[in-house]
Amino acid sequence: MKKTIIKFIGRLIGFKINKFNGYNIFLFNLPWVFCPYKWLIFLQESMIKDIGLEKARKIFYDAGRLQGSFGVRLYKEKFNIVPDVNDFSFFVEQAKSTGYGEMKLIEKDYNNWLFKLETKSPKAKEYLRVYGKKTYAVDWYLSGLIAGAASYLLNRKFEVEEVKCIAKGDDICQFKVKEIKLEEMPTMQELYKKYIEKNLSSTINVNTKSEVFKKKQHLYGRKYFYIDKNGAHLMKYDGISTQMSFLVALKILYDENNKGKIFVDTGIILGKALVDDNEQELRSLKNTKNRLIYSLSLLGLFGLGQFEVKKYDEKKGIIIIELLQNKFAEIYSKIWKSDKNKRIDDLNIGILKGIIDSITQKTSQVEEKECFIHNNKNCIFEIRLFS
Ligand SMILES: [Zn+2]
Repeated sequence: MKKTIIKFIGRLIGFKINKFNGYNIFLFNLPWVFCPYKWLIFLQESMIKDIGLEKARKIFYDAGRLQGSFGVRLYKEKFNIVPDVNDFSFFVEQAKSTGYGEMKLIEKDYNNWLFKLETKSPKAKEYLRVYGKKTYAVDWYLSGLIAGAASYLLNRKFEVEEVKCIAKGDDICQFKVKEIKLEEMPTMQELYKKYIEKNLSSTINVNTKSEVFKKKQHLYGRKYFYIDKNGAHLMKYDGISTQMSFLVALKILYDENNKGKIFVDTGIILGKALVDDNEQELRSLKNTKNRLIYSLSLLGLFGLGQFEVKKYDEKKGIIIIELLQNKFAEIYSKIWKSDKNKRIDDLNIGILKGIIDSITQKTSQVEEKECFIHNNKNCIFEIRLFS
């Protein structure tokens, strides 16, 4: 395959195929989400504390493997390109398009099916900056992404080990890709296939645009969203831009291991950070309700959907929020099944609590009353405030 084709596709991915409307992000007609590094890092570290390093690593790795194999599939089916086994530019571009920096193939041995790839992972740099030197490599999702992509692309089974990592104090992140004989993908694989197939054939019309989106886009211009060797950038946030199904996979795999409330806890951090990061704009708004509406509309820019305040009574201490276009819940229900007993929006519950606690300076209790997974079109959250 010609490098120019890949570059051309890369450009399309960066600017043209991405569709934003201020509530959701779409790429290849599939919903995407922007995950700031600081949130991902916090989630990883919280999972280690909760279920241990190996289990936590495996969850991110498996979620990455699913995305890696389906990512390559998307390229192949959308652009009808049959890749040549000598060409690794597929996942080089793929890693770059998610915000993992410029990846280089430094060793290839087709006799033994052994490869080495390197990148200066922006996420690992952020890890090092926030936590200092770690004793373990941290780019679990990327390792899985490479394993999944290589396995699909070369029609063999590969495993990936991150042998050097910037978070460990190395100068670069290095990945050893080697063939293995036996390997099982998570049970979700078949369900994912059906979901991707169904969604690839549908067309999404993105026409409504939120006010905050228009304002931010005007403010940042072409720099509103871009991807370079330092990661994916959405306004002033650095992170990865990935299919929403990655978050769904992470949640499903995590729930199989533990029923803890980790997504709520990391959501709280995200919600609070969002209020802190936009403090100036929020302060200029005249009351708490307007600050809440503004903060909620920021969530849409990350691809989390359209949050609307249905009821706001601070005196009685009650707030009702409706979430439209909850793609997380929609995908979850499509690839899993609707289950009345399941609560899946833990991340949103945490984010809402983080935002509301920060804005009202009170303690809130957030409960999801209705969800997409219970066959409702929208999700309804009821919030109680305590002084
Ligand atoms: Zn690394």
